[in-house]
Amino acid sequence: MGHDRKASVAVVGGGIGGLAAAAFLHRAGLDAMVYEQTPRLGDVGAGLIVAPNAARLLRRLPSAVTLERVGVVLEAGWEFRRWADGTVLFAQQLGEDCARRYGEHTWTAHRADLLEVLRSAVGDEAIELGRRCTGVTQDHGGATLTFAAGEPVRADVVVGADGIHSVLRGQVTTASVPRESGLCAWRSLVPAGAAPAFARRPVQVLWLGHRHHLVHYPVSAGRLVNIVAFSPARPGEVESWSAAGRQEDLAAEFAGWDPRLGQLIAAAGRVGRWSVLDRAPLPRWVNGRVALLGDAAHPMLPFFAQGAGQAVEDAAALAACLSAEPGDPGRALARYERIRAPRATRVQEASRGRIAHHHLADGPEQRARDAAFAAEDPLSHNDWIYAYDAEQAVRTELSLLCSEALIAAGGQVRLVGHSRTAHSTRTNHDHGESGFGRARQVRSTCRMRAG
Ligand SMILES: Cc1cc2nc3c(=O)[nH]c(=O)nc-3n(C[C@H](O)[C@H](O)[C@H](O)COP(=O)(O)OP(=O)(O)OC[C@H]3O[C@@H](n4cnc5c(N)ncnc54)[C@H](O)[C@@H]3O)c2cc1C
Repeated sequence: MGHDRKASVAVVGGGIGGLAAAAFLHRAGLDAMVYEQTPRLGDVGAGLIVAPNAARLLRRLPSAVTLERVGVVLEAGWEFRRWADGTVLFAQQLGEDCARRYGEHTWTAHRADLLEVLRSAVGDEAIELGRRCTGVTQDHGGATLTFAAGEPVRADVVVGADGIHSVLRGQVTTASVPRESGLCAWRSLVPAGAAPAFARRPVQVLWLGHRHHLVHYPVSAGRLVNIVAFSPARPGEVESWSAAGRQEDLAAEFAGWDPRLGQLIAAAGRVGRWSVLDRAPLPRWVNGRVALLGDAAHPMLPFFAQGAGQAVEDAAALAACLSAEPGDPGRALARYERIRAPRATRVQEASRGRIAHHHLADGPEQRARDAAFAAEDPLSHNDWIYAYDAEQAVRTELSLLCSEALIAAGGQVRLVGHSRTAHSTRTNHDHGESGFGRARQVRSTCRMRAG
C-alpha cells in the first residue's frame, strides 16, 4: 500500500471542529491536513451563536475572512419570552456589557460564513475534498487512514472531527447509544426584508411554551433571520441536517402562539426538519494517536448553543497540547482529553437539563421557573461558559505540572542538603549539582511549554 502524503496531523472532517483544528494547528506551527467527504464545504447548516468563549479563540486566528465581516454582534441574548403574548421573562444585555465582562462580544453567524472564517485561516492547499475516510490503523510509528477513494494517508496524529455519526469514534471507544430526546428540530432562514421588524433586532429571542420552543436571531451581517424551533418528534423522524420539512407543518406546531411568530413562520421558505438525538458522554476521546473532537466526541443538544463553541475550544486546546509536546503525541493527546472531557461533558449535561425547563405547561412549575428567571442576574448566569479560555486552561495545566516537577526537582536538592553530613563531599556535590541541573532544565522546558 503506497502512502502518498505525510501529514503530521490528519484531520478527518471539514466541519467547524475539523477546520478549527487545522487552523489552530497551523497557527501553532504544526503541519495539518483536512480530509472532508463532501465535494464542497459548507453545503448544509443555518445560524449559530458564537459566544465569547468561542469568539475570543476565533479572533486569535489569522483569518482573511473575519467574524466582523460576516457576523452580527448581539445586543441581547437569551431573551426568553412567554409563548402567548411575548412577555419578556429574562434577557442578557450583551453589547458593551458583554465586551467589558468577557473581553469579547457574543456574535451570530451563518454556519457557511463561519466555515469561511476558518477556511481562510487554513488555506485551500491544506484541505482535500471528496475524501470519505473508511478507517484508521495505528502502529508504533504513526497512524494510517484509508479512504473510499484515493490513496491512504500516513500521519503522526489523527483527529476524528467527523461529526455526530463519526466513523473514527469506533476506533477510540465504544459508541455511546443515542438517547431519544423526543424532540424534532426545525430550521429556516428568512430574508431580512420579509421578516417582521422584531425579528431583525440583533437579539437572540427564545419563545417558550408547552413542549415547544422557537429561537430566532439575525445572521449573515443582518441579511437573514435564522429560525430554529423544537416540537415533539414523530415516529420515523431522521437525524440529518439536510432532511426537509414543510412550512405549513411548522406553522401548525406554533398555531395559537403570539401572532408575531405566525408572521415570522409565514415568511419561512425552505424548512429543514429532523429528529434530535442525544448521546451520553463518551468514556474516552483518545486512543493512542487518534483523538476525537467536536460532535464526534461530545454531540450535545443545542440548548446552550455551544456545540460549535465547544468544538472550537477543543481545537484550540488540542493545538496547544500538541505544540507543547511535539515529540510525544500520546502524552499530548492524553492531556487534551484530561482537560477537555470534563468541560465539554458539563456543557453536554447542562444542555440536556434544559429540555424540561424550556417546555413546561402553564401552571405552578412554569410560574416558579419564570419567578426564578426574574430573580437572576442574567449575565453572570453564563459566566462559567463565557469566561473560559481554552488556551489559558492548557497553559494553567502545564504550569501546574511544571510547578510539581520543579518541587520534585527542588526536593531532591533539599534531600541532598540534609544528608550532606552523612556522605562524602564529592557525592553530595554531585547529587546537589544534578538536582539544581534538573530544576534548571525543568524550569526552561516549562517556560517553553507554558509560554
Ligand atoms: C438545531 C441546532 C442548532 C445549533 N445551534 C448552535 C449554536 O447556536 N451554537 C453552537 O455553537 N452550536 C450549535 N449547534 C451545534 C453545532 O452545529 C455542532 O456542534 C457543530 O456543527 C459540530 O461541528 P463538528 O465539526 O464537530 O461536526 P460537523 O459540523 O457535523 O462536521 C463534521 C464533518 O465531517 C465530515 N465527515 C463525516 N464523516 C466523514 C468521513 N467518514 N470522512 C470524511 N469526512 C467526514 C462531514 O461531512 C462534516 O463536514 C447546533 C446544532 C443544532 C442541531
